[in-house]
Amino acid sequence: MTIDVGQHNPGYPANGADWTEEHWHGLLEQLIAQGIVSWREVTSTMLGSINPSQVGTSIASKKTFQSHFEPRKCWAAVRAWHFMQNGRCADCDTRVDLQADHAIPREFVAGVGLWAWQGFPNILQRDPAAVVGSIKSQLSGMLVQHNYQGIEEALLDSLSRDLYAALMAGKASYEEFANVADRLDNMTLRCRRHNVIRRPSHANGGLTFLTAEAGLMWLLFVHRPSNYAAFHDLCRAYGLTMANIRFEEAWAMARWLQHEGLYDIDPTSKYAHVPMTSPSNSSA
Ligand SMILES: [Zn+2]
Repeated sequence: MTIDVGQHNPGYPANGADWTEEHWHGLLEQLIAQGIVSWREVTSTMLGSINPSQVGTSIASKKTFQSHFEPRKCWAAVRAWHFMQNGRCADCDTRVDLQADHAIPREFVAGVGLWAWQGFPNILQRDPAAVVGSIKSQLSGMLVQHNYQGIEEALLDSLSRDLYAALMAGKASYEEFANVADRLDNMTLRCRRHNVIRRPSHANGGLTFLTAEAGLMWLLFVHRPSNYAAFHDLCRAYGLTMANIRFEEAWAMARWLQHEGLYDIDPTSKYAHVPMTSPSNSSA
């Protein structure tokens, strides 16, 4: 992808996918040398981001997970599960910003639950093994369709049996079937970015190596566009699909730095001019 904004920092490849560790090192040293952030801030932010995620809240305190354990035994099981993980994102291996995430998404399990609920209206008269088998093959098909790999057979069996049990118990809603996915053996660790892009509803963007908010600042500091329209076009060219309001929020960084003489904004740019007074607050 080539983007011509005329301001691209010549020391760096235009495409982030081509960046080496040296480029990242150089960018950080530059940001620190320019007084944008300090070593202390960078390091403390990083330390906060590698602190293991709060699985006590996201898993152990949820009734759906608790229902698989004896009363007050859930946290011990979650803790043991957490310790057994490798501490890296299942998709990209990073230690940064990990969150507990479903191996097989709640959306898939809920979808198959509703499919079975419609397909087996007289479930009490059906052969249990045949129904469980149908549910399992439907779930497997969904995983293949969405290119999910490495799912354990035992997990598929457990979820299929649990969906059958939910149907037999009269469950009939999306939420009730989705809750079947809340099993400890269906959990894995993913970074925040992959947690988001694994969701079926998410359109995958072109910034494959950064979260959206990191991507906004990366584009701003690497390309240093001198007008808002160029920044907006850069963001779109990189596949950021969010509303323009996100770009306008990010543009505040250019304005803040401009006040301190650290960023050049073309006077003809949209959002270049600083209003001197606010009409509702002009007592001075
Ligand atoms: Zn990841």
